Order: sequence, then C-alpha cells, then structure tokens
Amino acid sequence: MANPEQKKLKRRPIQAAETMKKIMADYFYELDAAAKDPKKKVAWCTSVGPAELLHAFGFYVYFPENHGAMLGASRLASEYIPVANALGYSPDICSYLTSDIGAFLKGETPLKKAYPGIESVPKPDVLVYNTNQCRDVQDWFKWYSRHFKVPCIGVHTHRGLPNVTKTEIDDIAAQMRALVPTLEKVSGVKFDIERLKETVRLSRECSKLWRETLETATAVPSPITFFDGCIHMGPAVVMRGTERANDYYRELLKELKERVKNKVGAIENEKFRVYWEGMPIWGKLRELSELFWDLGGCVVASTYCNSWIFEQLDPDEPFESMARAYTELFIVRDDDWKESYIERMVRLFKLDGIIYHDSKTCPNNTNSRHGMAQRLSNKLGIPYVIVSGDLNDLRLYSEEQAKTQIEALAEQITSRK
Ligand code: SF4
Repeated sequence: MANPEQKKLKRRPIQAAETMKKIMADYFYELDAAAKDPKKKVAWCTSVGPAELLHAFGFYVYFPENHGAMLGASRLASEYIPVANALGYSPDICSYLTSDIGAFLKGETPLKKAYPGIESVPKPDVLVYNTNQCRDVQDWFKWYSRHFKVPCIGVHTHRGLPNVTKTEIDDIAAQMRALVPTLEKVSGVKFDIERLKETVRLSRECSKLWRETLETATAVPSPITFFDGCIHMGPAVVMRGTERANDYYRELLKELKERVKNKVGAIENEKFRVYWEGMPIWGKLRELSELFWDLGGCVVASTYCNSWIFEQLDPDEPFESMARAYTELFIVRDDDWKESYIERMVRLFKLDGIIYHDSKTCPNNTNSRHGMAQRLSNKLGIPYVIVSGDLNDLRLYSEEQAKTQIEALAEQITSRK
C-alpha cells in the first residue's frame, strides 16, 4: 500500500494559492457588505457575460456559476437538485441551475462555511445574462428576478457559428448598448465611456495574463495541471476588469515561470500528457487528479480553462470588442471550428490523448455526442476516452467506470511511446 506521505509528495502545491484564497475572501466579503448597504448595488452576471460594462457602473459583480461550482465541489449538490426538480425544473437541465436554486430555497450556501459571517448569496439589484453559452442561464436568472422582483436583462447570442461576421458583431454590440439605460437606472450612475474603456483594458490584461499562465503548460514537464487551473481560474472569472485579478496572475505567472526554468513539473515523473474536453466534475477533482498522479499522467490543457481568455477586448472599441470577445468563444462555434481549435491545442501542448467529459446536464459543454472524438482521433492519430458524468450531479457519475477507462487510456498511450 502506498505511503500517504509519498502520495502527498507527488503533487507540488502552488504557493500563490494563499494569495488567491485571500483575494477571493475579500471579494466575497465585499459583495456581502455591498448587498447589505442600500447605497451600493450588486449585479449578477453570467460567467461569460458583459462584466466589464457592469464594473463601469460601479456594480459589485457576482457570478452564480462560480457559486454553482462551489456547490459541486462541496458534493452537496445532489441534496439540493431535487428541491428545484419539485418546482418543475427538470433533472436533465443544468445542474448548476438546479443545485443553486435548490440550495437557495433551503437557505444554504457553501459561502457560510468558507467565509464565516456570510449567511447567503448577495441579493441582486439587477441580473444580466448572455445566452452565448446556453439558454439555461436566462431561465436561471429569471427565477431570481421573479423571486427578488428586480430587473433581468440580457444579450441573445447566435449559436453554432462557423465564422463570426460583422452582422453578428453589430447585433451583439447593439444589444449591449441597449443594456445601458436599465443599468443607469438601477445604479443611479450615468454611463461614462471612459470608465468602460478602462475596465475593458483591465479585463484584456487579465485575459493576456491568464493565457500566459495556461500556456506555461506547453513546457515539458508542465508546471500546472487542469485541476490546478480549475481552482486558479477563479479571479479570471469573478474579478476580470479589476487590478486585483491582474496582480494575482502576475504573481502566479512568476511562480510558474520559475518552475519551467527549473524543469519542475506539477506532478512528479510526468509520463504522458492529455487534454480535458468538457466541464470539470467538480465533486471529483481531487480523486481524478490523484488518479492521474498515480498513473504519471498530466492533464495539461482544457477547453474549459481556456474559455476565460478574451483577448479580442479593445479599449478603443469597447462595445464592438466585447461583442467579439463574447461571441468568438469556443462554445458558440460549430464543430468544424471546434475541431480545428482542439487540433491546435493538441499540437501546442504536445498531447498524447484526449478525455471527453459527456456531462449529462450540460450538452452545451459536451462535444462528444456528434462524432467529434472519432473524427479527431482519426485525424490526429491519438487515443481518447469519453467519460460519462456531470458537472455537479454525482449520481450521474460512476467513479469505478471512469477509473477503468482512464487507466485503459493511460495504458494505450504508454504502450505507444
Ligand atoms: S453552459 Fe452548461 S454548465 Fe454552464 S450554465 Fe449553461 S448548462 Fe449550465
């Protein structure tokens, strides 16, 4: 039996995690205080929604999907999902949505345990969505809008696009401009284009730093894993458009570059490298990362972590560049585009195989249902597995089956080396 101390040594913790914990705590305490202060305003935003515009009005911005991920990581989601099912929200729709609404109705949140003194999610003054990722976010936000009797506004994005043309950009930019009067009314702040330009500039800087962070994984051995990325992406999701996020990524990047310079890998003895396509399985991140350490496998890159890179942002054209950044996303594109993107990633990160997560309640982030895995494997000559599971609902995931599949993939890869 493995010595537990030896097991611990296989993973090299990232020192910057301490700073991240602190800034995430500051972020949640500030949101909590803002929600209790009538002079301050809280906006809820979808994870790839127009956060820059909300910051330009001085809103404290909260992201329910981040809360959904916390519910998944807490492994309590399956207790909350039936509460939303009882309201008519199907067990087949987004389990972020069902676990989040279920937890709210039960008066529970992982924020209570993580941040003593916080009793609930921050009450919104306005909810702002973008359907670029899915329709579920709109339904999710509308439930809270009805509950709190506050406005819910949004952008409706074209989906399944091979190319993003001027027609789509002009339309999305116009939809974003149309949000301004409601945001002025709710915030009591007059729109100032200079403030928007500044938040767009900060957000672009955050994206640049986050991409550089993820691309340190092109080094062999990789200084960071997908599992680290799922944790360290927090500031890029909830604090983009602020200096605080950028300072954090400068610190993280410095540490990772040092690792690359000294050829220090995130795991000891990296033997093979794979790509994770699809949603994380939040309640099993630890087990999965330990399984990979044991196999000598490093999950070095993923579509998921890359989804918060918005380098199209341009302070000189704030609305048009936001439209471009939030429409040229992987999730918005057709399969041909997605396949050429993954192909580029396979070459850039020197990958030996691909893991597709077929996430039952998120068809939007599941790309293995229409032949993509076979097509890419034939083209690239690398093996793959399709793991069935879910982002939050662990009742839909078989740990034993996933373990057997991943071990078989590792064997297939190592026998070819
Ligand atoms: S993209 Fe998937 S996980 Fe994210 S909110 Fe939509 S359905 Fe849920």
